[in-house]
Amino acid sequence: MEEIHRTAEAYYENLSVEKKRKAKRFFDELDKDGDERINLDEYMEFLKNDKNTVLTDPRFFNNLDMNSDGSLDYNEAIVLFYIMQSGRALFCKSCDTFLAGAYFSCSQCFFKDSISSYEICCDCYAGKKFTDHHSDAIFFDNYTLLLQSRRMVQAVAPTKKREKVLQIIKQGLQLASFTGALGCIFNGGAGDDDANCSIM
Ligand SMILES: [Zn+2]
Ligand SMILES: [Zn+2]
Repeated sequence: MEEIHRTAEAYYENLSVEKKRKAKRFFDELDKDGDERINLDEYMEFLKNDKNTVLTDPRFFNNLDMNSDGSLDYNEAIVLFYIMQSGRALFCKSCDTFLAGAYFSCSQCFFKDSISSYEICCDCYAGKKFTDHHSDAIFFDNYTLLLQSRRMVQAVAPTKKREKVLQIIKQGLQLASFTGALGCIFNGGAGDDDANCSIM
């Protein structure tokens, strides 16, 4: 969780004062008993309307609870907010582990339309534990996939159309974000415009 924790922290440090206040207000809403910590009950109450059942798995709560004291302090809760808004709540399709760091993704599933992507952890890829997936799958790690995507955009989209690609990416991030009570905290930069809600 170290890498994802630092990512969330870096985003948070770049938020405007108003966004930080908003994040704290949101944290306070979840913290029903006002002890500055979110315990498992408060966490479950918060997620009860969320369709992502994996997040409601107590094992995920334990992952977020980095110092294993049984509750989430503000810094640990920031990681939860980031994961929910970035759409980074990814789990290994083979062993169900939360993908907190580098992972592998099937490139065919990643680039095809209207099909869900297929991600697996480094251990499952190294141990070839993905036998239920199509046999011609070509896997790339997430960093390589990012570079491949950039090359693809550059090859396919003429310069003046790349602005549209950016818009599509932003829209995708908005869809991935938890738009309920959480609103848009991680929209980065100094802007406070919720209409321009994304982590970018
Ligand atoms: Zn795995
Ligand atoms: Zn695939």
